[in-house]
Amino acid sequence: MPFAYDDQNIFAKILRGEIPNDTVLETEHTLAFNDIQPQAPVHVLIIPKGAYVSHDHFATEASDAEIVDFTRATAEVCRKTGVTLGEGGEGFRSIANAGAHGVQEVPHYHLHILGGRHMGRMLSKD
Ligand code: 5GP
Repeated sequence: MPFAYDDQNIFAKILRGEIPNDTVLETEHTLAFNDIQPQAPVHVLIIPKGAYVSHDHFATEASDAEIVDFTRATAEVCRKTGVTLGEGGEGFRSIANAGAHGVQEVPHYHLHILGGRHMGRMLSKD
């Protein structure tokens, strides 16, 4: 079954300029902005501009140019927010939720970059 993208999701509206965002970085194929309900001192969402639902959708169907742009943008966001290892940062956690089992709220692929504090263990047991 093909990936089904709902263009009424909130991040699609952000990309169309219908609702505002606090932009951290914008490139040809990628937008990064602060999460509206941050769970850490650094909490940035990085999204491709293309219509992809999840990481596996993006990894399957995005062009090489989109994937390279997204990956490099991720590194730039880490630098800009001061979490980059090797540049004085203390590291970060990146999370990409997908679908019902991944507890994905917004069905447009996004990578969370969380940092600025110790993030605790990766998963709870529930
Ligand atoms: P998910 O659970 O889908 O991985 O994460 C969705 C994230 O999007 C949540 O952390 C939530 O706070 C964030 N979010 C939801 N609506 C908005 C919005 O309108 N603007 C911004 N900047 N973040 C949002």
